[in-house]
Amino acid sequence: METLIEEILTYSIVGILALGVLYIYLRKRNRESHQVTKKIEHAKEFGFHEPMSLHPVIDLNLCIGSGACVSACPEQDILGWRHGRGEIIHAAHCVGHGACFHACPVEAISLVMGTEKRGVELPHVNEKYESNVPGIYIAGELGGMGLIKNAVEQGKQAVENISKTIDRSNDSELDLIIIGAGPAGIGAALTATKNNLRFKILDQDTLGGTVASFPRAKIVMTSPMELPLHGKVKFFETSKTELIELWNEVLTKNSIAINENVKVESIEKKYSGLIVHSNKGELNAKNVLLAIGRRGSPRKLGVPGERSPKVYYRLLEPELIQKQNVLVVGGGDSAIEAALLIAEGANKVTLSYRGENFNRIKPDNFKRINSAIDSDNLQVLYSSQVDNITDTQAIIKLKDGSSLELKNDLVYVMIGGELPTDFLMKSGISISKKFGEVVLKH
Ligand SMILES: Cc1cc2nc3c(=O)[nH]c(=O)nc-3n(C[C@H](O)[C@H](O)[C@H](O)COP(=O)(O)OP(=O)(O)OC[C@H]3O[C@@H](n4cnc5c(N)ncnc54)[C@H](O)[C@@H]3O)c2cc1C
Repeated sequence: METLIEEILTYSIVGILALGVLYIYLRKRNRESHQVTKKIEHAKEFGFHEPMSLHPVIDLNLCIGSGACVSACPEQDILGWRHGRGEIIHAAHCVGHGACFHACPVEAISLVMGTEKRGVELPHVNEKYESNVPGIYIAGELGGMGLIKNAVEQGKQAVENISKTIDRSNDSELDLIIIGAGPAGIGAALTATKNNLRFKILDQDTLGGTVASFPRAKIVMTSPMELPLHGKVKFFETSKTELIELWNEVLTKNSIAINENVKVESIEKKYSGLIVHSNKGELNAKNVLLAIGRRGSPRKLGVPGERSPKVYYRLLEPELIQKQNVLVVGGGDSAIEAALLIAEGANKVTLSYRGENFNRIKPDNFKRINSAIDSDNLQVLYSSQVDNITDTQAIIKLKDGSSLELKNDLVYVMIGGELPTDFLMKSGISISKKFGEVVLKH
């Protein structure tokens, strides 16, 4: 009898404990779902719920709520977990590296370009990566697929196709000009070397493309990257410094030099080849590979003094900026994040923005900038415009027409960019809009 009572007691205690655990778990889930609902409402209010280009779409009939997509995504709050299912929160912040796509254990995620309402402009290419203009090829993110590994692979494949068309009898011209030294351009340059092509690689900036300007150090590679003339790179989580060092090493080993600070403005078709027009002059080649990504070229202020070496268009190594008078120009996320980061280094930062207030920025940036405004290190000048940049000053025109002379050591201009589509149109490449087209599906 006693044992029976003991057994009943034990079972009851175990049952109560299990119920307790279940209760705590359900409460936690409920709280999380509630937070995700709030975040979605917020994202809708600020216009970030709608995707800008490539983004995940979750098939809720397949989703088992493992949460793997949420943990795999290195960006913040793009995906959340609500009522036992994955949910999109800030689709507009998706950078398209597809970590969620690969992480989902039940293959419930596809990657989609654009939405029914918002189309994304993509150039036409055939299966060989050639555009409608004979001899102009396109690889990497410009063609619509965002991922370091894919960009390298497409650059490689495009050049393999180009190599098959080369007529070795005409020796007067380059076989190929590669525009862009990001992952696609790197894959292309190594393949061109492997296939003995005569080529040049140009970039308006330096080696690394978008990777070089990542705001975060961590890089996610969902599967090994095959680097021509080097082999498999089995990084899964690495840093941008490590990746760029590796690219640098492989390019140097194969005597490939990037022609830096060459901005290509357009490409012209001529009888037997192509003419590439850039800020450094003209080049002729039989083929051109556009590996220019989708981020475009930084927009310029167009004011006197802008060509000074103290003016930059992206922020690298903010930790090295100390005790400086810095002007940041712009009102988007990049300008705000740059201003906040530089202000952390005991610098005096002025953020000049032509708008009356910040809108369409990440909610977190909105909060952070508002609490930092008018601190000792940071001031914001709304409705203002840069008028002139001298060696020691930045002159800003204010709303009331007066001018403010600021002591200045460095200027960061972050006012967006010219879209690569302008460049494509100038070069005669056909573009069409994709409204919710599936790019990657299991
Ligand atoms: C914040 C962020 C985080 C990301 N994280 C990851 C990640 O963790 N893992 C991952 O796999 N992917 C990630 N991605 C995506 C990845 O960076 C891109 O898919 C990849 O860089 C695309 O390579 P690309 O060579 O096609 O273009 P890009 O890397 O954009 O390179 C294009 C190059 O062309 C140059 N260029 C452009 N126009 C001209 C011109 N007119 N003349 C001369 N040169 C020109 C540019 O200066 C640039 O160097 C991330 C993207 C972002 C924005």
